[in-house]
Amino acid sequence: MKDCIFCKIVAGKIPANIVLESRDFLAFHDINPIAPVHILIITKTHIRDFNEVSPEMMAGLTSFAQNVAKILGVENSGYRLITNVGDNGGQEVPHLHFHLIGGAKLKWHHLTDTNPRNSL
Ligand code: AMP
Repeated sequence: MKDCIFCKIVAGKIPANIVLESRDFLAFHDINPIAPVHILIITKTHIRDFNEVSPEMMAGLTSFAQNVAKILGVENSGYRLITNVGDNGGQEVPHLHFHLIGGAKLKWHHLTDTNPRNSL
């Protein structure tokens, strides 16, 4: 899709530090890592977000993401696989992507701006 930064990476118009590529997916290092391992796994076709992806495409993601974890050497130490959806999800790039994050003990905090107890 024109003007989509991740489509430009798929097309080779913007450089990326690529880890793995298949017919349907591309994995590359996040430009602004939040952990020692921070890989983005994207679909090669422009799919806006998780709401739009087919179960068939997701089936292919399974082994691809598992292989990325192996390549980065985090399959046994552990990692997190996250996709942000829309405004509340904190999605900044509207092209489906999964963050594979690891290489350090990850915390589970700062996931909301508001305390859910305040809305009880
Ligand atoms: P999200 O907030 O879930 O949409 O995440 C978008 C991610 O894309 C952020 O972690 C950015 O650091 C990352 N990002 C944006 N542009 C690039 C780029 N050109 N190469 C690699 N990662 C990028």
